Order: sequence, then C-alpha cells, then structure tokens
Amino acid sequence: MKTTVAAQRLYTPLEEILDPLLVVEDGVISEVSSRAGKQVPANTALIDFGDAVLSPGFFDIHIHGGAGLDVMRATPSELPRLGRFLAAHGVTSFFPTTVAASLDVTCAALERMADAIEAPQSPGATNGGSVQARPQGIHLEGPFLSHKRRGVHPPEYLLSPTVEVFDRLWQAARGHVRVITIAPELPGALEVIAEAVRRGVCISIGHSDAQLPSAQAAVEAGASHATHTFNAMRPLDHRDPGIIAEVLTDERITADIIADGIHVSPDVVKLFLHAKGRDRAVLITDAISATGMPDGQYQLGPIQVEVREGKCTANGSLAGSVLTMDRAVRNAMQFSSWSLRDAVRAATLNPARTVGMASHQGVLAPGASADFTVLSKNGDVLKTIIAGRGF
Ligand SMILES: [Zn+2]
Repeated sequence: MKTTVAAQRLYTPLEEILDPLLVVEDGVISEVSSRAGKQVPANTALIDFGDAVLSPGFFDIHIHGGAGLDVMRATPSELPRLGRFLAAHGVTSFFPTTVAASLDVTCAALERMADAIEAPQSPGATNGGSVQARPQGIHLEGPFLSHKRRGVHPPEYLLSPTVEVFDRLWQAARGHVRVITIAPELPGALEVIAEAVRRGVCISIGHSDAQLPSAQAAVEAGASHATHTFNAMRPLDHRDPGIIAEVLTDERITADIIADGIHVSPDVVKLFLHAKGRDRAVLITDAISATGMPDGQYQLGPIQVEVREGKCTANGSLAGSVLTMDRAVRNAMQFSSWSLRDAVRAATLNPARTVGMASHQGVLAPGASADFTVLSKNGDVLKTIIAGRGF
C-alpha cells in the first residue's frame, strides 16, 4: 500500500522542505521531496495536512510511565495503553526506564520490558483507531548511582558498579539495554562503562557527584551522554566546576534536560540549549505514571510519589515529572530563541543519534520507519502516524 502525504512544511529535521511530499510504502518512507513541479504519483492515496508541519515522531529515551502505568510494574498487555497516551503527545518510540529497586524486582521488570520490545510491534488499529508508541530499548537508571546524588532512588538498592551485576541485568533484559545512567566517580564505574560500550550501550553520566577529572575520565572510557543535566548532579561552581562543566563543554557528548520549567529554571534551560547547541541537546520527559492523570498518590517503581499541581515529590525531593514531549518541545521554544525545527530536532534526530538508531528513527528520509507527527506551527500535535498507520 502506497500513501502520499502533503503539508505546508517538513523537517527532516536536518533540512526544512517547503510544500513537501512524503511517500509511505508498507510502513516505510520511500520518498521525501518538494511538491514543486511534481505530479502526485498515480494510483496513490493523497492525504493533505494543509498548513501543518511534518516532523519525525518524538523519541523519549527517559520515561518511567504515564496514563496511570508504571513501566516497572506494567504487564506487556497493559503497555499499549501507555503507548496510545504517548502517541497522542507525538511520541512514536520510547525507552522504558527503570529506577533503583531490588535486583530481583529489577530483573523481573527487565524481562517484562524485553517481552514488550520483542512482541510483534503492532502500532495499533488502522481504521481510525489510535496508534501506539513502541518500546524500542531499555534505559537503566540505576543501580549504579551516587548515594549523595541519588534523588529519590532508594539508598538500599544502590550498588557499586561491577561487570557481574551489569551482566545479570543485561541477561534479564536479553540484550535490550540501550542506555545506562551511571555515576562515573564510583569505584568500578570505568570498567562497567568500557564493557557496556563494547556491547553497544550508550553510557550516560548522571546521578553523580563527580569532580571534573572523573567526568572527563568517563568520556575517555566511552561515555557519550549525560542524564537530566543539572538534576541529581554536583552543582556547578565557578571555582570547582565538577561534572556539569564537562557536560556543557565537551563536544564529544550529547546531554539531555527536563524542560518542564520545574526541574530546571527556564533561563538555565536556555543556557543549556545554548551550550550544547542544535547538534547535541536532547529533550527527555522523565515522566512517571501520574502523567496525564489527576493530582494524587502514584508509584514510581518502589517509590511512593505525591503529585500536586504538576510537581512530583517523594520526601521533599523531585521524583520525575508529568511532562509530555510535545510540551517539552514547546517549552524549549518558549524558554530560548529556538525555532520549532530546532526544538523538534532535540526530540527526534538527536536522541536517535545518541542511542545509535538514527538510520531508521528520528528522521524523515527514505528507508526510515514511517513514524511521524503532524504539528501545528506552534508545536501542537494534530496527528501521529506510526509505521504508516493512524491516518
Ligand atoms: Zn528518571
């Protein structure tokens, strides 16, 4: 089946195409071009989104839940509900993210996540039914985190990094671990970083009290990203720079931020976007089960969280967010001077590159999965298409 899509503009996102045509065949993009001087291919359905913008689907590499579901507790049959909620906010791919819990509980959760990733990935119904964002890999946030910068991760479940523990988690996840957040200053961290990089995992430094030299050593060992910059990190001091100076200035690494205006002040989000730039800034949500739900009590793995007026706390510390990716994109524009295209890039191509999946995710190009979001020029989600379905 062949479908041709038109709109006012399209972000690949490296390029902006005015008056674009996007051709989808069997769930994959076969052509991206300008409509100028072109005939719409005969015997294909043309769907014209008028003055809308076509963007790659958003890719959230750090999310704990939403729509009342916690990814560590959800069964594979419940996950589609989360997938539908995320798709409604423009997300087409996500990495379910763990929090520190007992090894047995973590391994059981990883097995369920692996089941969901390996399940035949139906994007959902065709006839007007809602599509589902797809889990594409796992982010391990913990157990190798700093006690001092653990945030709400329970201290009794934090572990010293060892290749043995990493391998146990890796086996439980059947090799679907794609990101690990690790505090590089912990004894044993560099060995785990080297081994995980060897297995193709993106190492993200975070939940860390590292001084500058240990953050630099982590990058030398292969770390390539940083987790929720500023949050759960040794603060920047102009005479004692620490990990944040490395994260903001090293062009070898990308970094992400929670742009909800609560975790980091809007002006510091602007500073971050300026420092990392259009090539290296990544937006995440760090969203928990309460996202899209009323205020109240919610679970984040083993942690009880209270949500009031959009703020998630546990024992007085911030505990994830209720941010959605479409709002993160709009906030990035509002907090800085970035255009919609720049902000979209930080939610699509940049995260896909960070985790090594940009050949088929996060881009609108021939050969990529036909995962895209139809946006208003203000960044509101009008429609989400996954594997060519959802029109
Ligand atoms: Zn998190």
